[in-house]
Amino acid sequence: MKDPVSAEGLYIPPAVPRGMPSTYAHRRFGADVLNALDPETASLVTDRRLYDIGLHGPDVLFYYDVMHPGPVRERGMTLHDLTGAEVLFPSRRQVKGLDPEMVRSYLMGFLCHYVLDSECHPYIHTVEGRGITHTRIEGDLDRQLLTEDGLDPRYEMLASHIFPSKRYADVLAAVMGVTSEEALQALYDMVSNNELLVTGPIRRAFVKHTIRKHGAYDLIGGMLLTRKPDPECTESTAKLREMYDDCVRKAAGLMPLLIKRSEDPASPVEGFGRTFSGHSDSCSNNSL
Ligand SMILES: [Zn+2]
Repeated sequence: MKDPVSAEGLYIPPAVPRGMPSTYAHRRFGADVLNALDPETASLVTDRRLYDIGLHGPDVLFYYDVMHPGPVRERGMTLHDLTGAEVLFPSRRQVKGLDPEMVRSYLMGFLCHYVLDSECHPYIHTVEGRGITHTRIEGDLDRQLLTEDGLDPRYEMLASHIFPSKRYADVLAAVMGVTSEEALQALYDMVSNNELLVTGPIRRAFVKHTIRKHGAYDLIGGMLLTRKPDPECTESTAKLREMYDDCVRKAAGLMPLLIKRSEDPASPVEGFGRTFSGHSDSCSNNSL
């Protein structure tokens, strides 16, 4: 692919990592899981904004300085190759000095990301094998969910629930193994990049044209959501929509185990053995 392009503030990443965010699906999923929890468990989300950030798991790091892929984005990919247990149960040392309620709110959101990623990615990889890009598959699912919710997929601000702050960045940094400065920058970049992709008709046409011109349409064109369904994704969207509902139940079922484990590090961690990419074990070691 050609070098990144900067034109009227539009930055195209030189390479979009696998698993590039399906922002709306994760956001909506977290809200649905919260509704599916019993009131006592749901009340443990004492910081909704941190829970909402957690819903995007390691994907937040993919947005970090998209012009210059580097170790922060790589960390986002590495985290996807770790198991839920390796990421969702940080050691005492990792979270030392942080407000435990904030950490818990964040991890409860993170668990939602884990379930949706680990359950859906194997299927998405199968569809990718037929020549449809990851962003296109996930983009059409986002379109479907936004449409169901009566929203226009072209113009919805998908990251309007993300509120970057230093306090939040400290929590992200401890769990994901980056610095607070990097986590904070990634959050700001997440907000600004999502805003760039959701824009008025004229600018949108320009963005599309620019992406095409630089040969990046296949790779990231799927992130420019459309109102019309993508005919090549009919089957995958229907399947993923079905899986989504199953995942809500699964995430709600795992949540009490996460809470228990945070209170008692010796409690079992069954159900967290898959990686975020959907493999049944991890080849890498968590270097935290
Ligand atoms: Zn992910």
